[in-house]
Amino acid sequence: MSLEEKLTAILGKNGVITDVSDMAPYLHEERGLVTSKADIVARPATTQEVSAVVCACAESKTSIVAVGGSTGLVGGTIANGGVILATDRLNKIIEVDPLNNTMTVETGCILVDLQNAAAEKNCLFPLSLGAEGSCRIGGNLSTNAGGVGVLRYGNTRDLVLGLEVVLPNGEIWDGLSALRKDNTGYDLKQLFIGAEGTLGIITKAVLKLFPAPRTIITVMAALPELEAILKLFTTTRQLCGDRLTAFELIPRIGMDLGIEHIPGVIDPFEATHPFYALIELTSARENDDLRSEIETVLEKAFEDGVVSDAVFAESDAQRQELWKIREEIPAAQTREGGSIKHDVSVPVSKTVAFITEASKRVSDALPGIRPCPFGHIGDGNIHYNLTQPTDMSKEDFMARYEEFNRIVHDLVVDMNGSISAEHGIGSFKREELAHYASETTISLMRAVKQAIDPDNIMNPGKIIS
Ligand SMILES: Cc1cc2nc3c(=O)[nH]c(=O)nc-3n(C[C@H](O)[C@H](O)[C@H](O)COP(=O)(O)OP(=O)(O)OC[C@H]3O[C@@H](n4cnc5c(N)ncnc54)[C@H](O)[C@@H]3O)c2cc1C
Repeated sequence: MSLEEKLTAILGKNGVITDVSDMAPYLHEERGLVTSKADIVARPATTQEVSAVVCACAESKTSIVAVGGSTGLVGGTIANGGVILATDRLNKIIEVDPLNNTMTVETGCILVDLQNAAAEKNCLFPLSLGAEGSCRIGGNLSTNAGGVGVLRYGNTRDLVLGLEVVLPNGEIWDGLSALRKDNTGYDLKQLFIGAEGTLGIITKAVLKLFPAPRTIITVMAALPELEAILKLFTTTRQLCGDRLTAFELIPRIGMDLGIEHIPGVIDPFEATHPFYALIELTSARENDDLRSEIETVLEKAFEDGVVSDAVFAESDAQRQELWKIREEIPAAQTREGGSIKHDVSVPVSKTVAFITEASKRVSDALPGIRPCPFGHIGDGNIHYNLTQPTDMSKEDFMARYEEFNRIVHDLVVDMNGSISAEHGIGSFKREELAHYASETTISLMRAVKQAIDPDNIMNPGKIIS
């Protein structure tokens, strides 16, 4: 029996796609940099079906690439033949348990559906990112996604209590614990989180829930200079404690590109300013006076010359408008032409020094280059994206991709930072990881991979070669 026949016997005709045009949604690569191709797309609807598909592939040592929402930005879902295992039919929310503050879900669920299911029970699932309307929780788990709530709630790794995983030999590992305390040896679930589908297929997860925020206040502060951002962050954290939920940096160029290319992006200030901070405080208490708290912060910041102006979101629509400025920066950059992206982190205390020095180095290498550093400054996570000079072709600019990677990543590593703060390694950053990671790190990673997936069928060529 051919593999296609075996998979059709397991999943039925509707669960198997071999027609290339029908496969297109599963071959999508968000950045349009490479092309994915598969012999078969398998769409299992239960853990047992995933297990049977993996067993069938393991018999013939056929590679398997898991595909969630295909919003990953590092080429993690690129297949080179073999089987794509799409998780879109693993889409059941099994239980929302407000007493245990957990939800148990299949990993093909779309992130926003999980947020909504939690909200229906007056709970919060705090993972939130620009792609939340299309990314799936299995992809979030496998990339250890970050997003805008990390400052307060941690990244995906911090939001998981248990997992169920289909291993490369088809065996089902049941680690679907809902316990907050469990010290029984190695924490195996953490191996699969951030593994980008290289160690197995995550089929179910138990996720942590939190009290739903009942008061939210969102402010955009205009800053006179980059240095002000860390001063404002420090004061906000000191005075607001863990009510501070998001603290994002936006540079003027990010605002300008948004206004130019994205309908609905509006500058909320009359004057222009070099940088902005988007700040959000939340509280589980109804009518909590967060406004006075942030006003105290801003009064001090005005006195110290750290803030030049500030606007409050007075309605949910205004809150969305302020967030739109931040969320649409990557799309606006793409419309402006070539964009070389770096999703990096450095210690929070070094963020300003990093942005200043990186901008100097890239401008020395290419006068006219337009750095657009934005993002989760409160986590030390900067999207250090470079927009092409206006007088250069996109092709000529993108041809210098590796040169700028080296400039930026050398500085990141010198500052004890990470070359991948959020998106993982996938295929695009594999050589960069090999370049910067210690031999010990790489050999430990290889040992883990060899132990769990000795035939290298799970997402081969990703993270390590
Ligand atoms: C507009 C936009 C904004 C974004 N903002 C952020 C952000 O703020 N923070 C952030 O971290 N990321 C961000 N991303 C990147 C992306 O959304 C995340 O990496 C997300 O977690 C990917 O989820 P996905 O379902 O699309 O995964 P996919 O792209 O489908 O897959 C990602 C990786 O996970 C593997 N995988 C998927 N499902 C499974 C599974 N069930 N078992 C095992 N492996 C699996 C895949 O093989 C692949 O290696 C953004 C992307 C876009 C387009």
